Amino acid sequence: MSTDNLVALSANPKAVHDLAPYKTLDAEELSARIEAVRQQLGDSLLILGHHYQQDEVIAHSDLRGDSYKLSQMAAESEKCQTIVFCGVHFMAETADMLANRPEKIAERDGRRVSVLLPDMAAGCSMADMAAIQQVEAAWDDMSEVIDTDQVIPVTYINSAASLKAFCGRHGGIVCTSSNAKAVIEWAFERGQRVFFFPDQHLGRNTALEMGIEESQMPVWDPFALELGGNSEEQLQSSRVILWKGHCSVHQMFRAEHVDSFRKQHPGIKILVHPECPREVNDLADVSGSTGKIIETVQSSPAGTKWAIGTELHLVNRLKAEHPEQEIHFLSPVVCMCATMYRIDLPHLCWTLENLRDGAIVNQIEVDQETAEWSRVALERMLAVR
Ligand code: SF4
Repeated sequence: MSTDNLVALSANPKAVHDLAPYKTLDAEELSARIEAVRQQLGDSLLILGHHYQQDEVIAHSDLRGDSYKLSQMAAESEKCQTIVFCGVHFMAETADMLANRPEKIAERDGRRVSVLLPDMAAGCSMADMAAIQQVEAAWDDMSEVIDTDQVIPVTYINSAASLKAFCGRHGGIVCTSSNAKAVIEWAFERGQRVFFFPDQHLGRNTALEMGIEESQMPVWDPFALELGGNSEEQLQSSRVILWKGHCSVHQMFRAEHVDSFRKQHPGIKILVHPECPREVNDLADVSGSTGKIIETVQSSPAGTKWAIGTELHLVNRLKAEHPEQEIHFLSPVVCMCATMYRIDLPHLCWTLENLRDGAIVNQIEVDQETAEWSRVALERMLAVR
């Protein structure tokens, strides 16, 4: 969405400050103004910062975490009236759905928490690779050759609310990168096959870890002419049908990067996120969610050498916070989340000063029906241990 559309999203368009002047201010002034609004609004404002966010934005966040942890924190917050989510669109949607559960709204005497995303162009390339219309069309197509009553749809939390709602409606579930294995096991207790979207790599790496053969994991290409580019036999013998989607950041890591680090730094350990391709994941010493990557580094002894395959800002922050260890970024090219990077000090300051002055800009509000079905899939996930 272009920034030209943003004024139309305000609850009070006349009061909306123009974004352009904020882009001419230096970081020091922006930071001072952001802090002034935080002081003024106190507990009624909660700023959430994703681990992949740039340092100058993280410095102003009340809580830091991965997408699900941040949403849980948002859901549990008692006092806040507004959440400013310094992350990407699907994360703000999840925060809106969890912070505005019917029981929570009742506890607040009908008041909703507003969730704001400082730049509406902060999307997620992976989430955008699976549109609800494509997933619904795929479901209809595959029902021609397999019994979809026996297919359990699983969506990675990095997906639009409409996909989570699809899973809710069809007996499916949401997963995160830390619980994907337990969630797929849950799915196999309820059906013969799993339809996993939007990240093929997380689906494949997890299923391989569970002992499922790659030959039983056809990839569904939404742009293929028939059956996602698969034969009837491939779908009929499948265990996990993977959506052809990926994270543009983690897709950049290669097996040759692992080889090169091991040659140049004997004893180095490779730590990667399971959104990386199979070749990289298979070679790694440790693979795990953002939370696991952070915990692994935190709990390692001084002098440990790491090459880490995940988003650049997080790796640089780990490097700064753990000078007692030797931390390298696994790729020679910059792999940062360009959409997350759109949330910067000018957008944050603009959002906050508008809020202070009574104008709600860039509000993310999931429609009631989508939110209800999404929560069904999210709650199934929460019940999985
Ligand atoms: S790092 Fe990848 S999955 Fe995460 S928000 Fe960015 S594009 Fe999406």
